[in-house]
Amino acid sequence: MNNMRKEVLGSVKRVVVKIGSAVITGKDGIDRDIIEQLVGEVAGLIAKGCQVVIVTSGAIASGKHRMGITTPLKSMPQKQAAAAIGQGRLMRVYSNAFGRHGVYVGQVLLTMSDLTDRKRFINVRNTLTTLMEWGVIPIINENDTVAVDEIKFGDNDSLAAMVANIVEANLLVNLTSTEGLYDRNPAKSKKAKILHLVEEITDDIQAAATDETSDVGTGGMRSKVLAARRVTAFGIPYIIASGKRKDVLTGILEGEEIGTLFLPSSEHLNSRKYWIAFTLRSRGKLVLDDGAKKALLEQGKSLLPSGVVDVEGDFGVGDPVICVDQQGTLLAKGLVNFSAQDVRKIMGLKTSKIQQVLGYKDYDEVIHRDNMAVSKEPRRTR
Ligand code: GLU
Repeated sequence: MNNMRKEVLGSVKRVVVKIGSAVITGKDGIDRDIIEQLVGEVAGLIAKGCQVVIVTSGAIASGKHRMGITTPLKSMPQKQAAAAIGQGRLMRVYSNAFGRHGVYVGQVLLTMSDLTDRKRFINVRNTLTTLMEWGVIPIINENDTVAVDEIKFGDNDSLAAMVANIVEANLLVNLTSTEGLYDRNPAKSKKAKILHLVEEITDDIQAAATDETSDVGTGGMRSKVLAARRVTAFGIPYIIASGKRKDVLTGILEGEEIGTLFLPSSEHLNSRKYWIAFTLRSRGKLVLDDGAKKALLEQGKSLLPSGVVDVEGDFGVGDPVICVDQQGTLLAKGLVNFSAQDVRKIMGLKTSKIQQVLGYKDYDEVIHRDNMAVSKEPRRTR
């Protein structure tokens, strides 16, 4: 038993389990044996009083198999059509497997736009919470048949990260076809060693995760590590492990050294700030002077008009924008109190001048601290 693991995972009550296409699809379509095995484990966790949410891929792969297509699907409509065929099949397999343990399941299909709107985000949260209170397992996938590029999560790794945030999970387990994150690509080097513990996602860690994907999934290791950033920033531990390993979930929750554990960040964001930082897409950019940079990063202050030196984009009141310093380093992301047009008029000015210049002053700050997620480690944006 590993003490560190025990400490981090000892009190886990709510787990998001992400199951990748490469785990549950084989050459004969959906691999029912693997699903039975994982479902058996999840049912065991439920019996012990844990709440579990599943994020599963496999709809497109299953639909493709059903149609007897063996070459990669090229166009978006083909993928969406395959998802329409496969999603029902996928759910039936889960539903039957859980049924044998007397557990019910509920299908939840999400697109990005369901989560970027705070009201819809809260609604999704309420639905998932109700399902869990009823002892029903939410089984989530992206709503592939309607999602287009602008509203796509892109891969189920980021969807699972957002779901972990929505349900305020204590752990996200990302089950994939490899044993975890290696220090270099194991397909290319025999010397590759698995990393059992990642305390901080450094550039070296990010570099160890290559972009290559399997034939069936869309994510690859890179997107799994990107998801790790989001999950750990919310204070949730994250594990990448092999979904094909016997008793993988039970072993993880018992503290066994399985897969790669990413420790939660100590200074984590609250749910709303996390939503601003990771769920919303930025509509513009504010360039700040050094005084404002210091106020934001070191003094915990709001952003005032006087600290803004340049404005990019055409955002409206309430839109998310990023703040950078004059070298282009990302400092923060927040919801603006003034439109781009109005920030251009008041930038560099004292707060007392807002009324005079704009003819109104609904707020003193361009971005209030409560609506701002500040980067812990400033990063270059270009
Ligand atoms: N949503 C896709 C599916 O169910 C998979 C996306 C992914 O592999 O990350 O087929």
